[in-house]
Amino acid sequence: THYVYRFGGGVSDGGKGDKNLLGGKGANLAEMASIGLPVPPGFTISTAMCARYYEEGERFPDSLRDEVAQGIAHIEGVTGKRFGEPANPLLVSVRSGARVSMPGMMDTVLNLGLNDETVVGLARAADDERFAWDSYRRFIQMYADVVLELDHGAFEEALEIAKEDNGFTLDTELNADHLKALVAEYKGLVEKEWGRPFPQDVHDQLWGAVGAVFGSWQSERAKVYRRLNDIPADWGTAVNVQAMVFGNMGDTSATGVAFTRDPSKGDRAYYGEFLINAQGEDVVAGIRTPQYLTRTAREEAGAKAASMEEAMPEVYAQLAQVFDTLENHYRDMQDIEFTVEQTKLWMLQTRSGKRTAKAALKIAVDMANEGLISHQEAIARVDPAALDQLLHPTLDPDAPRDVIAKGLPASPGAASGAVVFDADTAERWNADGKAVILVRTETSPEDIHGMHAARGILTARGGMTSHAAVVARGMGRPCVSGAGSLSISARDKVMRVAGREVREGDILTIDGATGEVMAGAVATVQPELAGDFGTLMAWADEVRRLKVRANAETPDDCRTAREFGAEGVGLCRTEHMFFEAGRITAVRQMILASDEAGRRAALDRLLPEQRSDFVGIFEVMAGLPVTIRLLDPPLHEFLPHEEAEFAEVAAAAGVDIGTLKVRAAELHEFNPMLGHRGCRLGVTYPEIYEMQARAIFEAAIDVAEKSGAAPIPEVMIPLVATKRELDLMKAVVDRAAQAVFSERGRTVDYLVGTMIELPRAALKAGEIAETGEFFSFGTNDLTQTTLGVSRDDAARFLGAYVEQGIYAKDPFVSLDVDGVGELVELAAERGRKTRPDIKLGICGEHGGDPASIAFCETVGLDYVSASPYRVPIARLAAAQAAL
Ligand code: ADP
Ligand code: MG
Ligand code: MG
Repeated sequence: THYVYRFGGGVSDGGKGDKNLLGGKGANLAEMASIGLPVPPGFTISTAMCARYYEEGERFPDSLRDEVAQGIAHIEGVTGKRFGEPANPLLVSVRSGARVSMPGMMDTVLNLGLNDETVVGLARAADDERFAWDSYRRFIQMYADVVLELDHGAFEEALEIAKEDNGFTLDTELNADHLKALVAEYKGLVEKEWGRPFPQDVHDQLWGAVGAVFGSWQSERAKVYRRLNDIPADWGTAVNVQAMVFGNMGDTSATGVAFTRDPSKGDRAYYGEFLINAQGEDVVAGIRTPQYLTRTAREEAGAKAASMEEAMPEVYAQLAQVFDTLENHYRDMQDIEFTVEQTKLWMLQTRSGKRTAKAALKIAVDMANEGLISHQEAIARVDPAALDQLLHPTLDPDAPRDVIAKGLPASPGAASGAVVFDADTAERWNADGKAVILVRTETSPEDIHGMHAARGILTARGGMTSHAAVVARGMGRPCVSGAGSLSISARDKVMRVAGREVREGDILTIDGATGEVMAGAVATVQPELAGDFGTLMAWADEVRRLKVRANAETPDDCRTAREFGAEGVGLCRTEHMFFEAGRITAVRQMILASDEAGRRAALDRLLPEQRSDFVGIFEVMAGLPVTIRLLDPPLHEFLPHEEAEFAEVAAAAGVDIGTLKVRAAELHEFNPMLGHRGCRLGVTYPEIYEMQARAIFEAAIDVAEKSGAAPIPEVMIPLVATKRELDLMKAVVDRAAQAVFSERGRTVDYLVGTMIELPRAALKAGEIAETGEFFSFGTNDLTQTTLGVSRDDAARFLGAYVEQGIYAKDPFVSLDVDGVGELVELAAERGRKTRPDIKLGICGEHGGDPASIAFCETVGLDYVSASPYRVPIARLAAAQAAL
């Protein structure tokens, strides 16, 4: 086996298919080189070496030294320069590169190979002393920071002082002599902080940097990022060593970053920033204000500094061509890094660009319409979970707003919350259920957990491609970056702007689509569901087999669900209706009644209320199936629990307080989840289910008479374990139906079925299907009862379970396919054997989870049911599952 893969100069040992081995960066550098794009030559040390490095106690095998020497020889051969040779020195960059781009990994070291001798040679070879010393001071600072891990504050301070002493504001104003002095000072700092002189041997420099890349794989920051993003620890990182090209060789040189389309809105326009006479991450670091790539973007922003299109028209034209080549080749929007060295363009990176949900949608639809990808590919390109961002409200354009600052619209969406100034507080407050806005001068990878916890992110510094902006877009958090008028003191927990003070805990609103920052909370409006969203959804609907219903229990929920494309209600819970004001008293009277007559009297009062609930729902869902679950929770949930409430409740219900207390005590259960609930209520008090069934059928006929379109009620009996339970309950429902039909002189179609939420029911599904006309998998309870884990108590240990790989994901969020899934599969199979046309659906939380939906497709369920806002997610996930 070998570990080193070359690229550039007409050679590519790898390609874009080798991301696992070469990391994303290395694979794409090789790919770009192989399609003839200008890539500085280099080589990649594979991720397999990272694993071996850790296996062997953080040491390199000798064979690697030979391979790296050959890699360097490759670069020397292509460039004609020599590593460590003063006459014509080769400088390289050392870049980390995992399979997926990962903040937390070692930052790139540029200009490696400079020392006291080669710097002189470089100055002579380039005929530019300033450039050589500028590169040397950059190298020492970067190496000290990322490889030696010395405090970078001292270096930055030295640079500031050098500028101040000379009355300069920009780095570019420093001349060769200033830079020489700075280098001397830097070397002194290294010796003082590190205890040894700055390494002069270029090979020591190289191995130090390579070791630092592998070492950073196990850094705390990288670990946190991996945990948040489900990245396995054994993937490892690759190391890329690449010939330097110089964007800091004067005014015909530059460096920049670009997207082939707008990553925020998705528009088909080149999008990016660049800086003349600059290197590496100067653009992202916010040291100088970057210039726009295109003239249009510059004009739109009202900026003065020339765009690249205007300042370097020839190179720009060449770059634009590269963008098109890359888009056509990768058939996706690309995120690109480039450098111009004395008018010569070099490509340093390309990858599929991170984008907002909005942009993902637009780009997928546009590319399909352009013929670049198929409809099916477009469907596959959009992450269903990310649609969530688009389905939520944005700021009401007509709501009054108190704008206190404006920054860049770095990641769209609106968010309000309490201001916090550090990531730890953000995390803590969020855990306490508070919405927070994380406010930072600028963010770094150390802030990731806080960004994750925050509803929105606001920074004073940094452009559209700054850390905050990139990470926020990836996470789907609204972000306003570079709001320059903010003066933030994280230490004093205060932000000053336009003569005002904002303190920790004050409410702010940010609008990531406009860049506005507002004091207080601002009203929001519903999202736009036509346009690209509608187009993609229509394509998805053509492809999917699974029907999508909604869990909804009010007419409003039903309307939202239908707007989002629900094809019925998969779960209408009835207990919430019992809690409504005006009814709870009758419910309590029913519970407190000492005999059936008393219960019936109370139920008679509830009937018209319940009927009007169903009328409201059926009107919205006319012509569609509506699964209604009869009463499920234990009765004591309807009784008061606080001493203070007893007197009032007793008076309202017309009983004395003593009776109420006795009855409440009687109803107490040790384990209500497994207690007197579900069909057990119907078995012991059939009159409750009878009233509910009557309300359903009367309402169905009312609506059918009024509108002509009858709903299709599917009456669902909860918590069934045996066929006999269902037999008894179905008889109650059928009797009520017959009674209503003969009273009204008309009928409606209906089904009676059950929730499968107990392992016994799944096992005996063949028998239960003799009576049940449909099954709805209640995977919330089925997960609880199969795993023997109470959902309400799981928080204490489930985190540890997921961390230790006992369950891959929270089984209440994503179906435990291996265990609970097997029961679902078996029940579906046994049910179908008895009743081939039995309707099968799922109505737990899992019905809105893309991975669980994929499972439902493989089992061949008829529909999934999710909360209204997740209906579009389910439609797209169902389509992806069918591809
Ligand atoms: P990151 O993964 O953080 O983007 P990179 O390895 O891409 O780190 O390096 C960051 C920047 O350093 C690049 O965008 C590029 O501007 C600069 N850079 C890296 N390698 C070279 C090189 N060989 N020549 C010139 N600049 C380079
Ligand atoms: Mg970086
Ligand atoms: Mg990069």
